[in-house]
Amino acid sequence: MRADRRMLVDSHVNLHAEAFAEDRDAVVARARAAGIVRMIAVCARLSEMEEVVAAAAPYEDVFPTLGAHPHHAKDRPGVAADEIVALARDAGAVAIGETGLDFHYDHSPHPVQKEAFRKQIAIAKELQKPLVVHTRSAPQETLQILREEQAQDVGGIIHCFSEDAPFAAAALDLGFVSSFSGIVTFKKAVAVHEAALKQPADALLVETDAPYLAPMPKRGKRNEPAYVAYTAARIAELRGEDPEALAHTTYQNALRIFGIEE
Ligand SMILES: [Zn+2]
Repeated sequence: MRADRRMLVDSHVNLHAEAFAEDRDAVVARARAAGIVRMIAVCARLSEMEEVVAAAAPYEDVFPTLGAHPHHAKDRPGVAADEIVALARDAGAVAIGETGLDFHYDHSPHPVQKEAFRKQIAIAKELQKPLVVHTRSAPQETLQILREEQAQDVGGIIHCFSEDAPFAAAALDLGFVSSFSGIVTFKKAVAVHEAALKQPADALLVETDAPYLAPMPKRGKRNEPAYVAYTAARIAELRGEDPEALAHTTYQNALRIFGIEE
């Protein structure tokens, strides 16, 4: 398996992260050289919204999102929805999130996570933008809130997919496609392999979640958008598809879902 020059979108990178503070330009340049033609710079803390926007601003191929990760749902609970809506419009945010539920680490109390999730679904609906959903150890609760809040009105992405094929199918019924990260390149992630294999081609995205979760053969190193090529190649291998065709499909899916022009 090797990473070729193919057009790809990294659907989830934490470009504002401290890990990229020293060499962000070089990271973006390496991504472009590897055929990563669009990158989605994701926001995880309301206190970092401006930083995310600033990190994306110099690059015409990097598009920001705005939102609060469930870990940080308890930070700045008072931030007004209006403030997020206004900044999202201003900054040309392509999605709301990442938001969702993480009952694995439990860094914020469950009721606080749920409330922040519901609030961000409402914001996404107001803006008519897709949602970037993070879900860990809370599959049924995540689906329930998406259903109750009628999130299918805007749909979105289950990012860094780590559940199983039935979850992917249930999410897709609600208008949520699955974005696969380096996890799909790990040998032991059998449920994720199966999900990537069964996922309809038009509902498949790839991401790095960089600087975290580098795919094989870079596992353990700092991850960066260029490495999304390894993830796409592994999914093509699992599905027995031509790597270039699969890359092109995920590229088109990303442009469609994030509403980005070619
Ligand atoms: Zn996440």
